[in-house]
Amino acid sequence: MARLQLKEGQAMLVSRAHQEENSQIKIKGCVIGGEQIVVVAGPCAVENEEIMKETAFKVRGSGAHMLRAGAYKPRTSPYSFQGLGEQGLKILARVGEEMNMPVVTEIMDAEDIPAVSEYADILQVGARNMQNFSLLKKLGKINKPVVLKRGMSATIEEWLMAAEYILAGGNNQLILCERGIRSAEPWTRNTLDLAAVGMVKELSHLPVLVDPSHATGVRSLVAPMARAAVAAGADGIMVEVHPHPEKALSDGDQSLTPKGFSQLMREIEPLARAMGRRLR
Ligand code: PEP
Ligand code: MN
Repeated sequence: MARLQLKEGQAMLVSRAHQEENSQIKIKGCVIGGEQIVVVAGPCAVENEEIMKETAFKVRGSGAHMLRAGAYKPRTSPYSFQGLGEQGLKILARVGEEMNMPVVTEIMDAEDIPAVSEYADILQVGARNMQNFSLLKKLGKINKPVVLKRGMSATIEEWLMAAEYILAGGNNQLILCERGIRSAEPWTRNTLDLAAVGMVKELSHLPVLVDPSHATGVRSLVAPMARAAVAAGADGIMVEVHPHPEKALSDGDQSLTPKGFSQLMREIEPLARAMGRRLR
């Protein structure tokens, strides 16, 4: 913990030493970091308005609080679907408004900050950009909540230092998201580091979400890891859901069906209560 000191005798903004009580981030009617376990659900990418609407309608019906979907997608191959860009932002914002759900979407490039801030309620920094310090500095200057995903090879300290960039810029509406880290294990896409949830909550006052979808890459493992995340003390989960995962333009293998998502929500409810939290 001593290493999280900025200078001798001066705690970093991200640290518990700087702020003892948990930060609560308010987004429209939702609070992340309060008593409620907040569930963010939606497809990996905005593919078209119909799929976005169908997914939103179904996940909302199962009790999801916020909607997710990428309009700018960080794909490993330049030949893979790259996202719909601004058109995707507009679809997401429209559906979010119709369904009365705040929307979360990824910001990849600082030049898109004005457009993404106009349409999204929360800007997501993806794992691949966790140490894009010039982007982080610019996000420190906006008046919108940011979700900072953990880099796939980032230590907890590097992750918290990245968070510090945003806080140091003056933006304290910040949420962390553990999404799995690279390990020697090839059967899963990443290795979900649930100990990091507890560690970060000891070291920092910031709320922590868990993304069991990118953390595993395997549909059958998403629900068990989401349940474990709630038991580990996460403040919420971010889950990929697609009405037809086999036809998804990205991350179909890890997407729950709306039915699978609904089952997961039923499983999480008693777990939230056991943790002294609530889902609704
Ligand atoms: C995503 O949430 O769509 C995503 C690309 O996740 P990550 O940055 O964690 O890989
Ligand atoms: Mn994805």
